[in-house]
Amino acid sequence: MLLLNNTSRERVAVDIHSIMTGTVAIKTRQREGAGTGRRRFLNMLLDREWTDPLPILAWVISHGEGVIVVDTGETARATEIGYFPRWHPYYRMGVRAHVKPEDEIGPQLNNLGLDTGDVRWVVMTHLHTDHAGGLHYFRDSEILVTRTELEHAEGRRGRLRGYLNNRFPDWFAPRPVDFGGSPLGPFPTSTALTAAGDVHLVPVPGHTPGQMAVVVEEDDDRVVFLAGDSSYSERLMVQGVVDGVSPNDGEAEQTLDRIRFLASQRPVVYLPSHDPDSVERLQKRTSVTFEPRHSVLASA
Ligand SMILES: [Zn+2]
Repeated sequence: MLLLNNTSRERVAVDIHSIMTGTVAIKTRQREGAGTGRRRFLNMLLDREWTDPLPILAWVISHGEGVIVVDTGETARATEIGYFPRWHPYYRMGVRAHVKPEDEIGPQLNNLGLDTGDVRWVVMTHLHTDHAGGLHYFRDSEILVTRTELEHAEGRRGRLRGYLNNRFPDWFAPRPVDFGGSPLGPFPTSTALTAAGDVHLVPVPGHTPGQMAVVVEEDDDRVVFLAGDSSYSERLMVQGVVDGVSPNDGEAEQTLDRIRFLASQRPVVYLPSHDPDSVERLQKRTSVTFEPRHSVLASA
């Protein structure tokens, strides 16, 4: 993973690490939605079957321009009674988190030899609790969230949608991302995060309307695609299966279609936040492969 540094013309290594901040079990019909529209959400809540504990992953990109953290994982406080709102049906019926204090992103960055104060950028794929639970470690970093996600997460309506905005740090004032940059493959717009132009943000609406993914360019045209919750596994992306919580089926399907199209054009190491195989795929740089029965639609 070597690339040219624009300023010094020296080759600098870009390293990507995974951090697992505990686990979360959800309903099988959250991982894999059943039905359409509101019924899909209801089917999820009423589902009696739980997934195995799934990893809650965050990512650290050691870049020549600064350390980039993608998502902050969950906090150990999520296991305290009363941290999740009991009045909310999803938190009462739909989620079981297991996070120990040493699982939090702060101590784990220290294990990697990093201090949270070293982090230049924190990119939030979206603001759900299991991605935002470690925000309090990053007071000195620039935090990026799409403007759409910020609007959906705020206020009482945000809390009804399941965002724990009352748990965000009181200093939380992220930089809104509006995109407006050039297309990236099938994605109609993007924003370059680094001056070197090797780390991009792209909109992946679906799981939430304002979700974004982080695309890291590597050698041989390969990209590492930090997908947030675009799907709960690579298989579900390839199959185009919408999860149980996406508010808009069509939008979610279009995002999965775009990811599939990108993966048909160049090697894509696809890393969703709760896929038990994401860590190994990152280590081995295993890219998405398609079986003949999987159609790849050329949408853009
Ligand atoms: Zn989520």
